[in-house]
Amino acid sequence: MNLEELWQSTLAEMEVQLSRANFSTWLKNSHLVNKQDGTFFIALPNNFAKEWVENKYNKNLLGILRNFDASARKLEFVVASQNVIAPLRKESSSTQSPQAENQMRLELKIDPETNLNPRYTLSSFVVGPSNELAFAAASAIINDVGSKYNPFFIYGGVGLGKTHLIQAIGNEVKAKYQGKIRPKYVPSERFTSDVVWAIRNKRMEDIKKKYRDVDLLIIDDIQFIGGKEKTEEEFFHTFNTLYENNKQIIISSDRPPQSIPTLEERLRSRFEGGLITDVSYPEYEMRVAIIKTKLQELNQSLPANVIDVIAKRMKKNIRELEGTLNKILFYQERKQTQITESVAEDIIEKSSQNLSRRVTDAQVLKAVAEFFNINTADLLSHNRRKEVVEPRQIVMFLLRDMLELSYPSIGEKMGKDHTTAIHAYEKISRDVNKYAALNQKILMIRDMIYKG
Ligand code: ADP
Ligand code: MG
Repeated sequence: MNLEELWQSTLAEMEVQLSRANFSTWLKNSHLVNKQDGTFFIALPNNFAKEWVENKYNKNLLGILRNFDASARKLEFVVASQNVIAPLRKESSSTQSPQAENQMRLELKIDPETNLNPRYTLSSFVVGPSNELAFAAASAIINDVGSKYNPFFIYGGVGLGKTHLIQAIGNEVKAKYQGKIRPKYVPSERFTSDVVWAIRNKRMEDIKKKYRDVDLLIIDDIQFIGGKEKTEEEFFHTFNTLYENNKQIIISSDRPPQSIPTLEERLRSRFEGGLITDVSYPEYEMRVAIIKTKLQELNQSLPANVIDVIAKRMKKNIRELEGTLNKILFYQERKQTQITESVAEDIIEKSSQNLSRRVTDAQVLKAVAEFFNINTADLLSHNRRKEVVEPRQIVMFLLRDMLELSYPSIGEKMGKDHTTAIHAYEKISRDVNKYAALNQKILMIRDMIYKG
């Protein structure tokens, strides 16, 4: 089967699972445009469709595709218009507009050697108080690979720019040293599956060469490695070999090393021997700057008051901020009118309703209980033990913050007075800004909630 046939077969099965309207809105114009190392690249006509399909159908599509091609490990969604895709599939590039071609190249050309996506650059990375330390470390590393800040460990919540920054380091190093310093980027799941594959096929030597034969190893989302014994072992050896040869190691995670419970002690202390920095929520000015940068990249514009509305509302996740921005641009493009503040408000309102509808109070309780290793019954009890008081306050805080419940209804759910709910919300809101550890805990709980 060629790529087109493979995709048509996948779609045929998918079509059965969806309503006709859904299928034709979201998937009819999708194409499988490339595959590489088990990653299959699916092109969609616009950002809105990309976001949608990525969030809703990723798992299903991958499951079906795997039945036809067992090498499929992951889908990557990209935006490309029809006039880019058609000639590309015919393998002739003569009719492509240079701009479209460029866009396609950026989205699809993940360098097979380094695994880096050229889309992530330092120049497109907006710097502000929430990430300036991480940025400074990145710049220092680029100028002085391997000797300064080694290993470099960066952590923070979802969608705050970790992948962007560490890939940008790789891209800059590659450009600056022209092949004399060889970077390699790998998501930790990929590393894990490589090791598993090698064990099964008795090809450990291949893996050793693949990962130890680089000068700068970038491992993304290391928290997924923890607990997988053989992988951790192999990672540790790779780490040591590189480290002893003054090779640079960069690691990202959604939490600091001491909070990855399954991580082996010797690995953790290695990380702690280097530089550890975090990225946190961007402040208002920075959110505005990010929106403006993004608009410039897309060659689009929005009225200042609309930019202001987006920046005021989208506070906690740059990926979601970008998603909202894309929705608004998509709307503007479709209607061929300049968007107004109130329409923008409306779009934001709808998408945040979607986000909060996904989360239930039961999920919040469950996540907090799991995180602190206590029973949900304790959270709902009148027990005043210190171990349950703070978790209970966190529950109330999250019910307000994520679900936007009223204080009386929070009180009711928790068997408490509404003033207790107010107190809890205010206390945690204050403390989150004061204590990094609490902030981190809440980021992790949020993440658990979103991931279900
Ligand atoms: P993480 O890896 O922390 O989950 P990503 O690096 O994937 O987050 O960032 C999510 C999205 O937000 C990406 O599209 C990225 O380009 C964008 N982004 C994040 N931080 C910045 C920044 N400081 N400047 C510009 N874009 C950013
Ligand atoms: Mg990431």
